[in-house]
Amino acid sequence: MHIDRTEKYIELTSLPLADGLEKVRAEALENGIPIIRPSVCGLLRFLMGYVKPANILEVGTAVGFSALLMHEYAREASITTIENYEPRIDKAKENFEKYAGPAGNITLLEGDAEKILPTLESGTYDFIFLDSAKGQYITFLPELIRLLTPGGMLVSDNCLQDGDVIESRYAVRRRDRTIHDRMRMYLSEVASNPMLSSAILPMADGVTISCKAGE
Ligand code: SAM
Repeated sequence: MHIDRTEKYIELTSLPLADGLEKVRAEALENGIPIIRPSVCGLLRFLMGYVKPANILEVGTAVGFSALLMHEYAREASITTIENYEPRIDKAKENFEKYAGPAGNITLLEGDAEKILPTLESGTYDFIFLDSAKGQYITFLPELIRLLTPGGMLVSDNCLQDGDVIESRYAVRRRDRTIHDRMRMYLSEVASNPMLSSAILPMADGVTISCKAGE
């Protein structure tokens, strides 16, 4: 499959982004910052309108593009987003200030999600977007399930690792094997955890979408 051509096509057929968002996106791409692909923009945009979340948690802010996108399409939502890489934190703050404003309701938590997640209150978030270091997804999962409201939704990006995940571990580069094993564990847990109902979507770099069981 021609992923880049598919993404380009999706981008061309999608509604244009608001000016501010387009600027943040263009600057991120220019500077080699990894941000969600156009098909994932479309998915988040759709889910914001459909789920209408009140409290969003994002793990992996980068420079704030996906947080601003969720803000654009869920204006009433309060968004908490976590980032640990200082140069990106500064840029994200600048982007939030510029494009969401002080009333934008986006809170940036600075630091390692592994330390921050256990400090957040259980059952708070009705939508979680996981987009941080891929090798940590499996570590974060129990915390994310704890943080979700009953019926809340978890979306995680980059789960198929450009197709590596479906290959035998011996077919991937030696240095990628740990992440390969950990992502397989994550996908298997997401699919079989009795607290979750999940689907793995072979779009972009692989996306999982899960709902936590209701009360
Ligand atoms: N969601 C962003 C977007 O689409 O605009 C892109 C996020 S980028 C793919 C992943 C980000 O997660 C990086 O900026 C990285 O520094 C951050 N990150 C990775 N591991 C982290 C951790 N343990 N705690 C906090 N941030 C982390």
